[in-house]
Amino acid sequence: MAQVTLDRVRKTYPNGFEAVQPCSVKIPDGELVVLVGPSGCGKSTLLRMIAGLEDITDGALSIGTDVVNDKDPADRNIAMVFQNYALYPHMSVAKNMGYGLKNRGASKAEIDAKVQEAARILNLGDYLDRRPSQLSGGQRQRVAMGRAIVRDPELFLFDEPLSNLDAKLRNQMRIEIRALQQRLGVTSVYVTHDQVEAMTMADRIIVLNAGRVEQIGTPTEIYEYPASTFVAGFMGAPPMNLLTAQIFEGALKLNEDTVLPITAPAGMGHKVLVGLRPEDVRLGGDGSVLFNVEIVEELGANRLLHGKLGGQDFSLSVGKDEAARTGVQPITLPVARVHFFDPDRGTRI
Ligand code: ATP
Repeated sequence: MAQVTLDRVRKTYPNGFEAVQPCSVKIPDGELVVLVGPSGCGKSTLLRMIAGLEDITDGALSIGTDVVNDKDPADRNIAMVFQNYALYPHMSVAKNMGYGLKNRGASKAEIDAKVQEAARILNLGDYLDRRPSQLSGGQRQRVAMGRAIVRDPELFLFDEPLSNLDAKLRNQMRIEIRALQQRLGVTSVYVTHDQVEAMTMADRIIVLNAGRVEQIGTPTEIYEYPASTFVAGFMGAPPMNLLTAQIFEGALKLNEDTVLPITAPAGMGHKVLVGLRPEDVRLGGDGSVLFNVEIVEELGANRLLHGKLGGQDFSLSVGKDEAARTGVQPITLPVARVHFFDPDRGTRI
């Protein structure tokens, strides 16, 4: 097990494209850190630099106390789990799991013992003689996990390991992987573009946007105090409402008809972006704020109401037992749960 330290780690590809801007983070021993962000934000590049599959342009990467920039992947004592499982189709499950150890010259007895132990942990005992083609997607992913476990690495790296599974299996596997990681206590870096996976699995989340770290924090910190409009919009489904408002006599003016009874941390006349999470807004109120509901979206456990507030797009979420209809209706805003952002820079005020 090991702490992982990135000290201004940066990547410029040979064509001059800067895929990862200087990134500094300390991942304590045993922690699971999720790299999350939209397609092309640089998360795979960052993971591949940690794995040693991609050169580091600048900065220092340490695993434990060693700077490993120039170490081959095979010498880094890491195990990687990929989206496509990367199993050998002609080998049995047992052989796939033991392959890395065999390559390292481990004895047959040691390999057998470790494979048996991993199979027990992963509930794969009955499948050891099968080929990967005779397994379900979830079982294949477990074999890939097993192969990582038997190597007894200091660090697990996961590259979108659940992307090829259906929604139900993905939910189940993310719980399994998290439980296993906690039980083994192995420091882990996990890449996903799925914000739910990030929220549910991470000790800490690193949000990337266009090669830049937007925010590093616990899931709660990221959700409750997003550092930018990008993070506010990316983490949470449906995303946080962002309304353009002008500060006007201790309140916020959205347009001529709609003034929100909210005090903003900026001076009279200034523009701000007001962030309101859909689940923080309530239906009903004294009629001073009116929401024009255009669409009611039924989700089973709750309903989403979409429409316009002061002429701007707005959504709120209500429980399944609450009456929900289209048309103009009063709402109550959560004064203690309002977020403010600079409209030019997108940063939290
Ligand atoms: P995805 O979720 O789609 O896999 P990602 O966040 O993992 O995306 P990366 O694969 O790290 O993104 O790519 C980051 C950026 O670097 C992208 O704009 C990509 O086009 C660019 N890129 C990746 N590999 C190279 C390369 N070899 N040469 C030049 N640019 C590259």
